[in-house]
Amino acid sequence: MTLLYEGKAKRLWTTDNPHTLRMEFKNDATAFNGEKKASFDNKGRFNNAISTLIYGLLEQHGLPTHFIRQIDDTNVEVKKVEILMVEVIVRNYSAGSYCKRTGIEEGRKFSQPIVEFSYKSDELGDPLINDDYIREMGLATPQDLAHLRQSALAVNTILTDFFAKCGLRLVDFKLEFGRLAADPSVIVLADEISPDGCRLWDLQTGEKMDKDRFRRDLGNVMEAYEEVLGRVRDSLR
Ligand code: C5P
Repeated sequence: MTLLYEGKAKRLWTTDNPHTLRMEFKNDATAFNGEKKASFDNKGRFNNAISTLIYGLLEQHGLPTHFIRQIDDTNVEVKKVEILMVEVIVRNYSAGSYCKRTGIEEGRKFSQPIVEFSYKSDELGDPLINDDYIREMGLATPQDLAHLRQSALAVNTILTDFFAKCGLRLVDFKLEFGRLAADPSVIVLADEISPDGCRLWDLQTGEKMDKDRFRRDLGNVMEAYEEVLGRVRDSLR
């Protein structure tokens, strides 16, 4: 099968079906737009398992996603999509670039979730953009953007509740969406949902259980991912 795309943490391969792809989770980790790099044994396996369970949960709640099935430990079959060049970030508590941008300390709860958009461009470092930029750059129509915002908030409601059952606070997360190759009028949730793209803090101790352990050299990165996987599995039993 042909390698279609290789990103920082995943590869996409063609399959026999022109409308589906194989998405492979790599063990590579990057942060700060690729400036910091490492590889962790089992990272692909943990993220695949977590993402597969989360996608199952979202589908159960009626949210359309690219997910079809898990193939093996590090591979899933997904619907072929054209990824929108807009990343959607939802924040429930202050952290990361929100703190950097505002000078506000980490961990403040927002009165309502913040939805923000960034332009998916490694070259530019995924800059923050707004609705007007998105319209003028032709990244999405205002109608599509309203759909992205509504879907991201629906994901937030489902996942905040679910992670709370896992003893985890969903601080923030990033989503990507794509248009189905088979029907470009349909936009679905794509990419992965894992501790690589979510901030998760232990509800009891406040301990970080996500990629910030790698970004900030906190150690025990895979121990945290494995713990998240264990809790997600237990909560779905
Ligand atoms: O860095 P920032 O605070 O903007 O990140 C917000 C959330 O989006 C975090 O959970 C982070 O892991 C995720 N994110 C991501 N990929 C990016 C940027 C942010 O997964 N390119």
